[in-house]
Amino acid sequence: MPRPIAVHVSIPAMQHNLAQIRTALAHQTSPLGRTSPKIWAVIKANAYGHGIEVAVQGFAQADGLALLDLNEAVRCRELGWHKPLMLLEGFFSAADLSLVDQYQMTTVVHCQEQLVVLESMIDQLQHPLNVMAKINTGMNRLGFAPEQFEAAFERLKQWQAQGYIAHLGKMTHFARADDDPSITYQQLQCFNQYTSHLAGMISVCNSAGTLTASLQQHLPSQFEQWVRPGICLYGASPFVAVAATELGLQPAQTLMAEIISVRDLGAHQGVGYGHSFISEQPMRLGVVACGYADGYPRHAPTGTPIWVEGKPSRLVGRVSMDMLMVDLTELPDAVVGSKVVLWGQGGPSVDEVALIAGTIGYELVCAVAPRVPRIVLEK
Ligand SMILES: *Cc1c(COP(=O)(O)O)cnc(C)c1O
Repeated sequence: MPRPIAVHVSIPAMQHNLAQIRTALAHQTSPLGRTSPKIWAVIKANAYGHGIEVAVQGFAQADGLALLDLNEAVRCRELGWHKPLMLLEGFFSAADLSLVDQYQMTTVVHCQEQLVVLESMIDQLQHPLNVMAKINTGMNRLGFAPEQFEAAFERLKQWQAQGYIAHLGKMTHFARADDDPSITYQQLQCFNQYTSHLAGMISVCNSAGTLTASLQQHLPSQFEQWVRPGICLYGASPFVAVAATELGLQPAQTLMAEIISVRDLGAHQGVGYGHSFISEQPMRLGVVACGYADGYPRHAPTGTPIWVEGKPSRLVGRVSMDMLMVDLTELPDAVVGSKVVLWGQGGPSVDEVALIAGTIGYELVCAVAPRVPRIVLEK
């Protein structure tokens, strides 16, 4: 028998979250008399750990998919994804550009070096290319400097006029949409200042931006808009202070395991490596078949929420490679074989676990190990 651990991935939850985001966007834009933005569902990093195949199904109603691994992008096409497919980091070499062309992907162009590659190959492409030109408005990661953006954009527009480029848009990325709107407004101001006179669709919002209703009125209305939500589509919150359930989202990923051993413990007993937890009074402990080699965060401290048979309890002691211990003192019915949810449906949210473990839900959902059997829920 395999170890009693599994990760469930719910396609209906992904469908629900996408529909939820669409509804939220419609509510934001209709009072402004604008059409609702189109949605690139972000599926980078193997769809945040949920699997590319599952994402292509779960986000079938999205207007496009966005990711950054070329192999994963090719996989989407092979799985029958015919709508736009955007490479968030663009191409890394001339060879990549040939694949972008062959599979008719949309590429981000964010630096001079990419323009040089384009220059050398643009007249050899089989299809007109779709390009999103990226401007750095304060994230200071990818993107042309604001003062260099117009020249780069004009170069791309020349290629568009020559028929080498089909769609040409403008994008940027927020650094603090999850925690500081004032920085986001500064970034938007920069974006508008340097791009609003240049025609082309725009794409600026990640999950946090997409779920911040007040942003829409700061965006130019004359251009088609595409948003780029990621984490919220998987049912986790982009905001530390707002729970995913408050946003109407459902967890797409549930990490579950079983109790494989139960023991009674006297007072003043150390538990696990380093005896980081010492019992104050007699207690009952369960050993769960999940450890850091499965993707559970080793830094989760005693007290991290864990649910047993639908009831909340807590992690006790240090997380081992393949096991962790849970407090069963208040759960006398729990036995070997009882179901444990580490996060997701019927358990704590991945955001709660992440917060107490000093990380973010993004990292946890991405990090579930390949050795954990994956069960895809179609209903
Ligand atoms: C990851 C990413 C997104 C999605 O971010 P979330 O916070 O998961 O919504 C959007 N745009 C770019 C450029 C990204 O790298």
